[in-house]
Amino acid sequence: MSAVRAVDVLVVGAGPAGLAVAARLAAAGVPRVEVLDREQQAGGVPRHCAHGGYGTWPHPLTGPAYARLLVTAAQRTGGAVRTGVTALDWAGPLTLETVGPRGPETIGARAVVLATGARERPRSARLVPGTRPAGVYTTGELQQAVHLYGQRIGERAVVVGAEGVSYAAAATVRAAGAMVVAMVTDLPRPQVPPARAANARLRQGIPLLTDTTVTELLGHGRLSGVQVRHRDGRTVVLPCDTVVFTGDFVPDHELARRGGLTLDAGTRGPAVDGSLHTSRPGVFAVGSVLHPVENAATAVREGAHVAGAVLESLAGAERPDSVPLLADPPLRWIAPNRVTPADRLPYVLRTTAVSARPLLHVTQDGRTLHRERLRTTAVPNRTVTLTARWTHQVDPKGGPVRVGLTGFFEDGEPAPW
Ligand SMILES: Cc1cc2nc3c(=O)[nH]c(=O)nc-3n(C[C@H](O)[C@H](O)[C@H](O)COP(=O)(O)OP(=O)(O)OC[C@H]3O[C@@H](n4cnc5c(N)ncnc54)[C@H](O)[C@@H]3O)c2cc1C
Repeated sequence: MSAVRAVDVLVVGAGPAGLAVAARLAAAGVPRVEVLDREQQAGGVPRHCAHGGYGTWPHPLTGPAYARLLVTAAQRTGGAVRTGVTALDWAGPLTLETVGPRGPETIGARAVVLATGARERPRSARLVPGTRPAGVYTTGELQQAVHLYGQRIGERAVVVGAEGVSYAAAATVRAAGAMVVAMVTDLPRPQVPPARAANARLRQGIPLLTDTTVTELLGHGRLSGVQVRHRDGRTVVLPCDTVVFTGDFVPDHELARRGGLTLDAGTRGPAVDGSLHTSRPGVFAVGSVLHPVENAATAVREGAHVAGAVLESLAGAERPDSVPLLADPPLRWIAPNRVTPADRLPYVLRTTAVSARPLLHVTQDGRTLHRERLRTTAVPNRTVTLTARWTHQVDPKGGPVRVGLTGFFEDGEPAPW
């Protein structure tokens, strides 16, 4: 092992979450805060999201403008942002092996924050049969090709998915001068607000095939079409030279896994309590690595939130006892996924079922801690939030806390959306 260079806080990942942590900690007077990113440019996913949708309602920003703002904030407050540097593995509980333009380096910290984000599962992981032609992308790959490298992508694209990120992918296809042949989702409806879906369908003329799955990719050399099958058994080939697989995010949890941190079975990211402390003292996690994928404001809010817990940890505070927080079906996951009575960060959840104004209920050892009726319809692939105003009732010596949802629609029932 090479000599260890010491910093106070090492943040892995210079996306919105990591940059927000660094800005907060540096502004709070922590002297040596360092953020690493394996990319040549800091900013994370927003760097290649040329569409709007970032910033706040009165001050909307494109992704790249948002990324620049966050990088500037982290640097102005005194954080060191280093790009082209990959954290490879752990050399100790708070020490990481890295490699960058100047070669390998071992960095030891008093606290480590993992902000490594999430990625879309590529075609291979989705087990889509067929040939291996060129022209197959995820949204991230597509946006990087179009917006960062100015590459040509083809002329006719099929977008697989109908959630927010799928509509962003369709916009990128159109920005590249190509046509969206169709959007395809295996769910019965798009998972975006009706106005957004209607805009794509009616104003941009993009057909949406619901209850439909991609069954095969066709073509040798270049993609020539995708075969899709409707739930009723009908099969059709959509001629196209490009296909974009969207959504289906998984956390970039490699470092957490290699470090032996406890992973949550639902999110597959590191398990954290409401202060975003992982199972290892002094190691925290924020942003999309915890919940693939929320909006950037959530990542930034968590970055700011975790700074308080990191400061306490640097001052020698012990990590409080927590109990597991479990999401019962039809809920798919919840984050954070451990709970202490002091937690105040709101929870984000995902469901697998459509539920009109469902009831969320929180229990521990048969005791009801909280009940809350949602004002909206819960839909797969869209955020459901749960307040943390019940956590003071949690018994830290008790059993797991369970979150359930009732009022969902069984398969085949008419969905109210
Ligand atoms: C296509 C798309 C469109 C989106 N559109 C919007 C939108 O319009 N509005 C909105 O609010 N949100 C949007 N989002 C979500 C938003 O971009 C995310 O919430 C946000 O980027 C999460 O920030 P993060 O810092 O957690 O992760 P990321 O932005 O993913 O950053 C993680 C960083 O960690 C780095 N990293 C990972 N592993 C290592 C390692 N081992 N060593 C060094 N560096 C590492 C990566 O290179 C990356 O830069 C969109 C997301 C996608 C994918």
